[in-house]
Amino acid sequence: MRLVKCGACGGDVSDEAQACPKCGQPTARAKRIAWAYPLTLAIIAGCILWFLVRVAGQIVNVVQSVSPPG
Ligand SMILES: [Zn+2]
Repeated sequence: MRLVKCGACGGDVSDEAQACPKCGQPTARAKRIAWAYPLTLAIIAGCILWFLVRVAGQIVNVVQSVSPPG
């Protein structure tokens, strides 16, 4: 842990803190986390969606092969 200068008020802020304790300004670390978190969620959601679409497609194939129309 080391101290960095707050960009807003110039106070000392821990580089592990997510916001300045004096003025509440988010630190660079907090901004990185704010980017990384939704990005990670979007990637995971995309993988789950891709998986569901594949599974749904296979289920449709199985259902069609078991009970052919007509
Ligand atoms: Zn500050």
